[in-house]
Amino acid sequence: MGLTLQALVLVASATRVFASCAHGTFLSPRAEGGTVEVKTFGYSGTICPNIGMQGPLNWAALEAPANSVCATGTKQSPIDMVDGVFTVIPGTDVQITVNDMPDGAEFENLGTTVEVITQGGTLDVGGKQFELQQFHFHLPSEHLDNGTSQAMEMHMVWQSAAQELAVIGVYIAIADAVPPAAPAPAKRDNKILCSRLNRRQEAVPPPPPPTTAAAVPPTTLLETIFSVVDQIAVPGTKVTTPPLAMGEVVDVLRAGAFQVYDGSLTTPPCSEGVAWHVSTARLGVAPATLARARDVIGFNSRYPQNAPGQPNILMISAMGSAVAAIVDVAAPGA
Ligand SMILES: [Zn+2]
Repeated sequence: MGLTLQALVLVASATRVFASCAHGTFLSPRAEGGTVEVKTFGYSGTICPNIGMQGPLNWAALEAPANSVCATGTKQSPIDMVDGVFTVIPGTDVQITVNDMPDGAEFENLGTTVEVITQGGTLDVGGKQFELQQFHFHLPSEHLDNGTSQAMEMHMVWQSAAQELAVIGVYIAIADAVPPAAPAPAKRDNKILCSRLNRRQEAVPPPPPPTTAAAVPPTTLLETIFSVVDQIAVPGTKVTTPPLAMGEVVDVLRAGAFQVYDGSLTTPPCSEGVAWHVSTARLGVAPATLARARDVIGFNSRYPQNAPGQPNILMISAMGSAVAAIVDVAAPGA
């Protein structure tokens, strides 16, 4: 079993795979001629003719050695965002500008995600400046918020002049109506209270409705973009969105903080050295809108990786299987 798994991880395939999270960057330049290039990796274990297993357990074998770090890297993304794996910087310490797109933006179905081609934006953080290339969506979220997945996650991909990559990840929660304010408690009237206690017949008042810290309104940008997602249901298609105003999202990001860590692309070739900035703020998507997005995206979330600096999960698995195989040989029939 162990040797078989190692073979799956390490044996090369002739299939060519391109980066998705890095689409439009130096790692995966956008196709010329206006065509939408459909990606050939996947998220399930499905074995497809001429491609093999497309899912993330097999990304390294889809194109070796280009994708080998998917199975060997020790700073892979996404991760569970728990205390100790990230540092925190206030949103106000990060300078973000994103150009509005009054004529709409190109919205593409890459087969592995749906992506909006942006029209300019800058990120200034840590003395470095990055240019916004695109943003795209994962369903459900790739990062876990202290062990909890979220409905979706938006990735804003930025590249510096020195070809360094930074990604802002922001969770998208299912938007809900803001819970009504709890009724103000009645003024205490000791005479009435004593009378009630004496009679022991007053019903216990119902508790106030729980306040839901995660309750967020629908984000206009997301509602606008996903209003046309059904027009790109087929991989390789694109549509122009209605006009997009970006200030709303920038304000949300600035109001939160960023959990920062050194990770990787979450898609092949899983390149490391990506400066992740996962926002503590939330965007919101209405339930019906989430359903429309899900019908097109399906599922596109890589499984959580080990904490930065820990061995790659696939290496641990392969080593464990190899040990099991040795034990089998040493003790046949045991
Ligand atoms: Zn992504």
